[in-house]
Amino acid sequence: MAGKHVLVFDSAYVSDLQKLGTKVAFAQDRGAKVLTELNREFGDGSKGWVVKPKPLRFKELALVHSQDYLRSLFKPAAWAKIFGTKALEDNAENRKLLRRLYREYRLKSGGSLAAAQLALKNGLGANLGAGFHHAYADHGDGFCLLNDIAVTVRVLQNCGKAKQVLIIDTDFHQGNGTSKIFDGDNSVFTLDVHSKEGWPFHKEKSRLDLAVKKDITPQAYMEGLRQAIAKALAAFKPDLVIFVQGADAYEYGQLNPGEGFSLPLATMKERDETIIDTFVEREIPLVMLFAGGYGPRAWEAHHQAVRHLLYRAGAI
Ligand SMILES: [Zn+2]
Repeated sequence: MAGKHVLVFDSAYVSDLQKLGTKVAFAQDRGAKVLTELNREFGDGSKGWVVKPKPLRFKELALVHSQDYLRSLFKPAAWAKIFGTKALEDNAENRKLLRRLYREYRLKSGGSLAAAQLALKNGLGANLGAGFHHAYADHGDGFCLLNDIAVTVRVLQNCGKAKQVLIIDTDFHQGNGTSKIFDGDNSVFTLDVHSKEGWPFHKEKSRLDLAVKKDITPQAYMEGLRQAIAKALAAFKPDLVIFVQGADAYEYGQLNPGEGFSLPLATMKERDETIIDTFVEREIPLVMLFAGGYGPRAWEAHHQAVRHLLYRAGAI
């Protein structure tokens, strides 16, 4: 069905993070590349799938983040810590740059809330960006400023649209910020599938952690994932699932190849389709967010997942 709203994206998702002095090969154009490929496959009808997000407001961010931390992001020092760079000079021009980048993070994070609202309405939704799972309540970490996952949960819980939320995080790196924020909160179940050897070297405690070893086979990875989902569903009844889709588990989407396990594109497809299908079949709303993915080929893993989500949503 053409024109069915499933995806959230804005051209401003392509942030110029290189201006902060980082050399990391962020695939900031992933969302745009996925849409270009879908346009090529399905023509102009695909444009009707996309809605634009609004930036999260500060009072929404404050449901998770401390006021001091939110204020610190107007100055260069906090950014330098999050991106592992030397701090920019604290002058008017750089403050203007940070205000713009801050707004872009609020916009991408607002995309997660908008996509979750689409999922609650229609069953499925995806934000073609965000998934900033390393951000803690009072500090950022690992290129993540604002924890859009946690803010989405709190906004939806506050307005009564969701009570019990299951977060399935399949990014290569543990979603340390998310796990810490929801530690001890029985209304949120964090299932985190991550590299045992990889960063962050201090892991937080998720409700259920699956630490994947470097030499794992694709078959063993999938078996572990299936068992973990079954265990989560035996213990918890979600009314919303947030699927943090992380393309850096993909062999051509990694930040530091060789740091830990990696999966071929076919296993990424099996992984993402398994997760989407599990909740479509149980009629539990699911929203998908991108999270990690680096280099020129990361978009391939996102594209096949978004394509399957569109298919299950009845949009293609
Ligand atoms: Zn990652």
